[in-house]
This record gives sequence, C-alpha cells and structure tokens, in this order.
Amino acid sequence: MYFTPQTDPHIDWVRVDRNALQMLEKAREIAGIAFIVTSNYRTPEHSEAVGGFATDAHTQNPCSAFDIACADSASRWKIVFALKEAGFPRIGINTKNNHVHCDCDATKPQFVLFEE
Ligand SMILES: [Zn+2]
Repeated sequence: MYFTPQTDPHIDWVRVDRNALQMLEKAREIAGIAFIVTSNYRTPEHSEAVGGFATDAHTQNPCSAFDIACADSASRWKIVFALKEAGFPRIGINTKNNHVHCDCDATKPQFVLFEE
C-alpha cells in the first residue's frame, strides 16, 4: 500500500471511494514516482472556496476524486498516463495550482482529459 492515513492526511479516510483508491494504488505503481495527494473529499463550500464547484467530483461521498501534486511536464506525463492505464475515466490538468486531477464520477462525461 502506497497510501495510508499516516502518510496521506489529505485523503478523507472515512469518505474516500475504496475502488478509486485501489485504482490510485495501481496508478502509483505504474508511474513509478511519488504521488502527493493534495485533495480528496471536500464539502461544497470548501470546493467553491478553492476554485472548484459545489457539485464537482470532490463533493461526492464516497469520493473518487484526487488531486496529485505535479509541477513539471515529465512528471505530468507519467502521472496522466498511469491514471489512464489504471482506469480513471476522467483526468484533469491544472497548471495554475500544479496538480493532476482524476475521478470516477459516473454522472459526468466519461473518457475525458480536461483543463481545470
Ligand atoms: Zn480535483
């Protein structure tokens, strides 16, 4: 296990979607580089406060959304392709806050790579 409550305080260990967490474990294995999760579950208010939306995937419970810190293009390539290989159907690139987003929110468009 790469992700634990001790090493990953930004994962909400009560609300995290366990299937998505398993996919994140697989992606981390494929990428071969450290994944620093900076966000998982958020309340609608919190999500809006940090530039998201009240109904974005971070507000799902259980929550399949993760933001992974990423500041350079070589790491971004590894993270994005590992997330895709692990089965995440929704991946977002955020170059303002330097992270890669992924989620499995079935109520939103599937097999998309978006900019956020
Ligand atoms: Zn996100």
